[in-house]
Amino acid sequence: MAIDDRNGKTAEPLRYSFEFFPPKSEDMADQLWKTVDDLTDWAPDFVSVTYGAGGTTREPTLSTVRRLIAETPLRTASHLTCVGATKEEVHQVVEQFRAVGVKHFVALRGDPQGGMGTPYQPHPGGYANAAELVAGLRELGDFEISVSAYPEKHPESPDATSDIDMLKRKVDNGACRALTQFFFDNDIFERYLERVRAAGISIPIVPGIMPIQNLTQLKRFASMCGASIPGFLDERFAGLDEQPQARAEVAAVVAAEQIEDLVRRGISDFHLYTMNRSALVASTLGNLGLRPQNRSREGAGAAA
Ligand code: FAD
Repeated sequence: MAIDDRNGKTAEPLRYSFEFFPPKSEDMADQLWKTVDDLTDWAPDFVSVTYGAGGTTREPTLSTVRRLIAETPLRTASHLTCVGATKEEVHQVVEQFRAVGVKHFVALRGDPQGGMGTPYQPHPGGYANAAELVAGLRELGDFEISVSAYPEKHPESPDATSDIDMLKRKVDNGACRALTQFFFDNDIFERYLERVRAAGISIPIVPGIMPIQNLTQLKRFASMCGASIPGFLDERFAGLDEQPQARAEVAAVVAAEQIEDLVRRGISDFHLYTMNRSALVASTLGNLGLRPQNRSREGAGAAA
């Protein structure tokens, strides 16, 4: 049963991208680069590096992206937000990323500077939202542009219709792919995709898959993002609080089952939130019957 043939068919090979975040300390940097090393042979379609979240600035993203492009064969995209910046400042940032070889941006508005849940104030003289940022990027160059999508709507959206209207504006302005917020109920995604297609949006809507490192922490984060946590997850992780190994095994099975079900529904592209850790992502892909490709590390310098 294919819910959407524009999103890919089950006969197509499964493709996946990995999302990393820039490290904030030396220990976190060691963790990231070990993860990158571990996951390179899984041959993702591309990898992306988040921008500006949690109070970080441009520099950690720029240096992470620079190193990925210079030292790995991974096609590398950079996230970019327009929060707290004038258009000119955003353009300067774009030029810095272009100079290190970035050809693919994940263009986002960003969270309010007061933190998630506080009202968003566009910078006077800046881009007010991601749709405006996409249009600005289009004028600056022939970039590949991905954007966000929210199967359970963005918390600031009054309703699902206005949420999809915003996605449509982003697509009309030049976005060629949407990466979704994580979700765990594939029926929600299927209904969302039907509404997106009914709105005339034909770009790939790539499900964001979050292998669950820690259900308690995830619940806190999910409630801020407007993502629901179905009750079956409590059942799957029940009694495993003190058993990290068993928890990791369950998490990899849960994520693989979600992907398998989406494949059955006709989806072939997935965006995996790695949280800068490789083990769970590798076990998830392994559970799908995939194997690392041990491809040559030569050819570094690729940008998505
Ligand atoms: P937009 O697409 O501009 O808007 C999102 C939704 O909010 C729209 O659907 C719209 O309906 C609604 N909305 C916006 N403004 C209003 C308004 N004034 N009134 C009513 N409704 C409104 N954040 C980071 O800081 N760095 C990152 O690297 C990052 N990466 C992300 C990657 C993915 C795949 C996703 C899904 C999210 C990411 N985020 C990141 C989080 C994102 O920045 C936040 O969700 C932010 O609040 C919205 O950004 P956006 O680009 O989705 O906004």
